[in-house]
Amino acid sequence: MYRNILRHPGPTPIPKRVELAMAQDMISHRTPEFVNLYQETTQRVKPIFGTKHDILLLPSGGTAALEAAAVNTVSPGEEVVVITVGAFGDYFVSICEKYGFHVHKLEKDWGEACTKEDLIEFLKPLSNIKAVFATYNETSTGILNPIDQLGEVVRTHSDALFIVDGVSAIGGAPAQMDDWNIDILVTGSQKAMMLPPGLALLSVNDRAWKVIEENQTPAYYLNLLSYREWASKGMTPNTPAVSLIMGLSAVCDLIDEEGGFSKTVERHLLMKNMVREAMKALSIELLTDDEHASPTITAIKTPQGLDLPTYLGHLKTNYHLDFAGGLGPLQGQIFRFGHMGYCFPSDVLEAVSLIEAGLQDFSYSFESGAGVKAAQNVFLTSLRK
Ligand code: PLP
Repeated sequence: MYRNILRHPGPTPIPKRVELAMAQDMISHRTPEFVNLYQETTQRVKPIFGTKHDILLLPSGGTAALEAAAVNTVSPGEEVVVITVGAFGDYFVSICEKYGFHVHKLEKDWGEACTKEDLIEFLKPLSNIKAVFATYNETSTGILNPIDQLGEVVRTHSDALFIVDGVSAIGGAPAQMDDWNIDILVTGSQKAMMLPPGLALLSVNDRAWKVIEENQTPAYYLNLLSYREWASKGMTPNTPAVSLIMGLSAVCDLIDEEGGFSKTVERHLLMKNMVREAMKALSIELLTDDEHASPTITAIKTPQGLDLPTYLGHLKTNYHLDFAGGLGPLQGQIFRFGHMGYCFPSDVLEAVSLIEAGLQDFSYSFESGAGVKAAQNVFLTSLRK
């Protein structure tokens, strides 16, 4: 028997309370019980998005919600800007290209963030942009784009909508959709939201609804107007992921018990700092700089002299510690330490200690315990504040 220590950037561990909530007897989605559950739960999610607008729930992965955001707002041939700093920015590019949008790609190297200066410069020659798409947290590199600043640039330098993929950010990273000029914000259930895969959450502001109402591109299952119409009755157009919504209600309870969403964000920032300081103490390089580092996932470069697949396989087989490797050009170069959702400083200490055990097994030269000590110092300092 063993316990798998899942430290992936999603899917992530599910709290027992959430599992139990999802095990409740099934209810029909056309009953007053469901209407209550839907209305109460979506209301409680609003602070996590930082919005006063309604939260819509799609029975899907994050990709379907990204696709819904694209297809409901832009028509084939119209111009869009897609900011891409890694694999998931490229996802947005593929969606937009598939629908025949004229895509202007603002691309940065993997491991870098898009700055407001980059975007100002990029928008200068473009006058007819319908939407700017951006990834808040680039899961492939552990970069958090400065979405607040990018939102301000979009609003002041164009008439475009600002559509944000928050899939690996929302629930762990700060989000102020309304104050940051985000017109549509999308996330999925299986990352910082502490749920299994299968539920997408999305919010649309009045500005974006106006564009959606005028958009002529047909959409059926992903038709957001139809979601809005049914949401006004506390329901969804088709059968929703009822059990996941029961689980979402328990997620909101847990966040309340932590002291509200700002405390949840604080925990994520603390874990980010613990992981980063631990790796620095072990002389293991990080992919990103501290300024743009993600609070939910850290990309760690292969410890010098080690073969990454062998090392990760060793951690998994011997210590049941499960990390994700790199994607695309970063395959074999980095591993990704997920510290989001149901993850605590004690989990970080555990993982760092096992990283060290693995390093010892491969005779990597380091001061034993240095990583744990560094992470512990960050943790203890936060407790004494
Ligand atoms: N966007 C980001 C930033 C992601 O990390 C992911 C999944 O890892 C997706 C989009 C796609 O979401 P899904 O796999 O739920 O469709």
